[in-house]
Amino acid sequence: VMAAILRKYIVVGGGVAGGYAAREFVKLGLQPGELTIFSKEAAAPYERPALSKAYLFPDAPARLPGFHVCVGSGGEKQLPDWYAEKGIELKLETEIVKADVENKTLTTNKGDIYEYGTLILATGSTFLNLADFKTPGADAKGIYYLRDIGDADKIVEAIKASKGDEAVVVGGGYIGLELAACLTMNKIKVNMVFPEPCLMPRLFTPELASFYERYYEGKGVNIIKGTTVTAFEKDDNGHVSKVLLKNGSSVNSTFVVVGVGARPLLAPLKGLIEEEKGGFKVDASFKTSNPNVYAVGDIATFPMKMYGDSRRVEHVDHARKSAMQAVQAIKAAEKGEVVDEYDYLPFFYSRSFNLSWQFYGDNVGETVLWGRNGAAASESKFGAYWVKDNKVMGAFLEGGSPDENKLIAKVAREQPTVNSTDELVSGGLGFASKI
Ligand code: FAD
Repeated sequence: VMAAILRKYIVVGGGVAGGYAAREFVKLGLQPGELTIFSKEAAAPYERPALSKAYLFPDAPARLPGFHVCVGSGGEKQLPDWYAEKGIELKLETEIVKADVENKTLTTNKGDIYEYGTLILATGSTFLNLADFKTPGADAKGIYYLRDIGDADKIVEAIKASKGDEAVVVGGGYIGLELAACLTMNKIKVNMVFPEPCLMPRLFTPELASFYERYYEGKGVNIIKGTTVTAFEKDDNGHVSKVLLKNGSSVNSTFVVVGVGARPLLAPLKGLIEEEKGGFKVDASFKTSNPNVYAVGDIATFPMKMYGDSRRVEHVDHARKSAMQAVQAIKAAEKGEVVDEYDYLPFFYSRSFNLSWQFYGDNVGETVLWGRNGAAASESKFGAYWVKDNKVMGAFLEGGSPDENKLIAKVAREQPTVNSTDELVSGGLGFASKI
């Protein structure tokens, strides 16, 4: 029997949460040799959102080591050497394929066995693949997805190889929006296809979306709403040549990028840990049903203190904060102490072209738009509030400065009472500045 390699702490997943967990361990005091991080990827943890933004720019694109964590939140850039200097073992291109929570062991794809004292799961998500939906032709060459650097590099190659052909972006969420913008910036004609009646349907109302739709159309993007891809046609080389749509139309295209959602990666702990709402159920310090195992980032279903329910959140801000919370809780527990409960304010953002929006809070109730008077789409400042039971629950702002974004965050946190929505329409950002 092979002896297990013993580590006080093990992190499975070297993505955003994995990188921020490492920083928090170092900050709170880590002895060399105590921590091992496993990652399937070849690169040390980096700020994943860059991949659908600056990584794909035609001019001066972002490249590693430029966006390793923790630059995304204004912290120190952790290059591979940083881990070595801190005595952290960073096992790249190493997948954990098996777990045994009784014996507290993990097995790598290379056959090594590690034993942990405390385990943090930070395996993130993977994209939904059209082949999984059995879309005919989904295995054609020229159809791309985006999750990691390897995927992004393939898209960069395809951009370089494209010779005036039209592209199809499948999906109207933030990945679709950001990809459509990047391809357009690379002078590729883009057709966006999505089944919902408007862009960003999980957050935007049709009224809010109309600004972005008109802006994108102004940049030359052809938006095809309310329909889905039924099949891909291939040429003799197995390369995509045509995208067939449910509405009966089609687009001749040799370059397709798909952003239709993600699914959390629970293997190899699946079945060993309690689940809720598609993720591992955790408490307010990200401890799972197993006291030696924590789960953070995209895979954790955590108590949302502000709203009295539990949620799974696939966003970078939560990946960072949940990782820090878990490490703080682990270190506190060693001293017989407890940390404050996680009290997360949901925060989503996206950037494309010269646009940049932020949203804080909960998008429930009635949406009240301000600063938009039906004028043509321009890079103007406008926003929205979500109001439920006379309380402002969510706030959205396009084109806000850092200080202005802080104002809307404060509104979402404090949930002020409003007697009529008129004061939100006429007050706009001024309403937020008075809170
Ligand atoms: P990840 O960052 O995905 O890291 C998980 C890591 O674990 C990966 O490296 C994976 O390879 C590895 N792994 C998985 N299984 C194993 C295993 N068994 N063994 C070893 N390693 C394993 N969010 C926003 O808020 N704003 C944005 O603008 C935004 N843009 C995005 C753009 C793109 C292209 C993508 C893909 C996501 C974007 N997100 C954005 C979402 C955000 O990046 C994720 O929510 C965040 O990365 C989650 O962090 P995580 O650590 O949980 O997972």
